[in-house]
Amino acid sequence: MKSGKKGLTIAIDGPSGAGKSTVGRSLAKLLGYTYIDTGAMYRTVALKVKEKGIELEDDFALYQMASSLNITFIPIGEEVHTFCDGEDVSEAIRLPEISRLASEVSKRKGVREALVRMQREMAKEGRALLEGRDIGTVVFPEAEVKFYLVAEPEERAKRRFLELIGKGVQIDFQKTLEEVMERDHNDMHRALSPLRRAEDSILIDSTHRSVEEVVEEMLKIVEKKEK
Ligand code: C5P
Repeated sequence: MKSGKKGLTIAIDGPSGAGKSTVGRSLAKLLGYTYIDTGAMYRTVALKVKEKGIELEDDFALYQMASSLNITFIPIGEEVHTFCDGEDVSEAIRLPEISRLASEVSKRKGVREALVRMQREMAKEGRALLEGRDIGTVVFPEAEVKFYLVAEPEERAKRRFLELIGKGVQIDFQKTLEEVMERDHNDMHRALSPLRRAEDSILIDSTHRSVEEVVEEMLKIVEKKEK
């Protein structure tokens, strides 16, 4: 454990739509931990790449831009909003176009270096819960508790579909399923920090289970570790 660190570091990794954000937010709230949605950080970089017209091949420009962003998470009601340089980007980063671009920018070395450094800084005090794809393998391989959350692809696509429909985005289910599968494939087969299960992680399948059930199971594991 690093000096000055209090409490635990909790990692939740897994494919898109497995429920990482929903259970992660809830678990962090129950524990009073800092919640860090690293996927939202890659999405924010994607949004800025689009706005600023940065070339995806220009790692130096990507690193500089990503390092300069001030990304924060602020709980508002039941949700946690993502702010970038004071602007609430929560809605903009969930659009399908940004999901696709996030998967592309997350392959780039410049982006990963900048964001991993930022994530370690944000969680350095401990009592932090981070969710993403490479938390238990790369960002915090020393995390005391690691979960790997999975669910069947149809269920993951259904969740994403309902989330988008709820936000007024017009999309059909088949397309959502194809996009979820394509993003998983990209995330698992990229050269840098591909999505994979850490050997010392606890596998949890959220298929056909309620958020409350999954959170309760995780909470018991964390509380046991805290003792
Ligand atoms: O979790 P979410 O779907 O919001 O993440 C968006 C994209 O960001 C993922 O498809 C993945 O490509 C990338 N990502 C990543 N590493 C993380 C978190 C997300 O590469 N730790």
